[in-house]
Amino acid sequence: MLAQIGVTGLAVMGANLARNFARNGYTVALHNRSVAKTDALLAAHGDEGAFVRTETLAELVAALETPRRVLIMVKAGAPVDSVIDQLVPLLEAGDIVIDAGNSNFTDTRRREAALAEHDLHFVGVGVSGGEEGALLGPSIMPGGSKESYDALGPMLEKISAKVDGQPCCAWIGTDGAGHFVKMVHNGIEYADMQVIGEAYDLMRSGAGIEPAAQAGIFTEWNRGELASFLIEITAEVLGHVDAKTGKPLVDVIVDSAGQKGTGRWTVQSALDLGSPTSAIAESVFARGLSSQRGQRAIGQEVLAGHEVPVELGADFVEDVRQALFASKLVSYAQGIDMLTAAAKEYDWALKMDEIAALWRGGCIIRAELLKDITKAYAADEAPANLLFAPAFSKAIGEALPAWRRVVSTAVQLGIPVPVFSSSLAYYDGLRRKRLPAALTQGLRDLFGAHTYNRVDMEGTFHTQWSGDKTEVEAVDTH
Ligand code: NAP
Repeated sequence: MLAQIGVTGLAVMGANLARNFARNGYTVALHNRSVAKTDALLAAHGDEGAFVRTETLAELVAALETPRRVLIMVKAGAPVDSVIDQLVPLLEAGDIVIDAGNSNFTDTRRREAALAEHDLHFVGVGVSGGEEGALLGPSIMPGGSKESYDALGPMLEKISAKVDGQPCCAWIGTDGAGHFVKMVHNGIEYADMQVIGEAYDLMRSGAGIEPAAQAGIFTEWNRGELASFLIEITAEVLGHVDAKTGKPLVDVIVDSAGQKGTGRWTVQSALDLGSPTSAIAESVFARGLSSQRGQRAIGQEVLAGHEVPVELGADFVEDVRQALFASKLVSYAQGIDMLTAAAKEYDWALKMDEIAALWRGGCIIRAELLKDITKAYAADEAPANLLFAPAFSKAIGEALPAWRRVVSTAVQLGIPVPVFSSSLAYYDGLRRKRLPAALTQGLRDLFGAHTYNRVDMEGTFHTQWSGDKTEVEAVDTH
């Protein structure tokens, strides 16, 4: 019996995706560099569906119906290139090579172009939801040719998470679009976790609310507009007591956050695109600072605090909730704005309503809020910024007084809230009539003759700073 899909790379993600395909009725050919993982999967779960055991990539390819669908789920980076190089000579025109790992979208663009030379389709697929999602239904973001989606999409939609009966999977766009959208998803995930951390720190260090009590608060918040997977699991982590010490687990975990790279890639791409993605950037930097444990130890000794005592209002916890919500809206707005910039730069027809819709289930940032974001972008005219959609301008406007109170309280108490505060700065930056960028342009003109535009006439100008300071019309060198 020929298999409809082959999976190579059977570590936790590949094994669970393979099982998901099999549980959904597909025949799945299995391959792993070291055969032991293939056999372990078959021994533990071989009865879950139809699997074909193979030992070599040649056997894997021979086990597949045409056009062949080979899904690679190996360690991102050089291993993906190595597997592709071995596969290409074994495949025929029209076959589909799928990379479902966390590859950088620039690698995906390069690989797609290289495989197109061999008349092979290369599909970079973003998969979110971790191990459990891969098994039970992840959120799936496939890129590549539309033609490849016709042959592959229905299978991916079948194994994806479903919300209101709709699959959390849709064709994203050509070449690296799927991996790009997954990368921004992960960036937003960084920001989501950081704002939760800032809320926790304010309630703990500012208001003295212990983790167990905060677990109750987050559970309550999960019933309202913040309802989301990350808020739900925050309650679980904060409520967990360490069996060894009897202390809250959060108190025995070293406060230095790791990262695997997708947040950093998001910020690097945002910089390339000139996209103001401050919430994600601050979240990546906050993890970086947390990891500088040596410097932090010295900082605790040598740096003054001069905190100002603040009488916290009775509504402090509610204020924090609103600040969290407003900052979260900003991080989604910035992420979507970055997608808009990327669509223009890379010629992708990204559909924000479909992207928001497929993030509603299966993935780490799944949240109630995404339903309203989907609606905002499904409207006849998409807003230029998520925050301009009437429902969101209203929501963030209502949260604004609490947000300002929380940020100023945090500053006075010396509690760092980089995403709460930078998101507020972004919001104020968007609504300010005049920005000090005018002065920046004046300075750039003085030291570098970079020229400026005027508010009252067309053209590009330069002041002859080192001469008689008269203004001349200049060639635009911005
Ligand atoms: P992983 O630890 O990233 O990779 C291990 C797998 O890669 C093993 O099957 C290993 O084969 C294979 N491999 C490594 N180097 C190879 C090479 N040169 N040639 C052939 N195979 C090679 O596995 P993972 O955690 O399941 O993740 C797979 C991909 O999914 C990664 O891109 C990851 O970033 C992404 N992802 C992971 C998660 C998650 O929650 N873990 C979520 C979403 C996406 P051997 O057994 O022979 O060593």
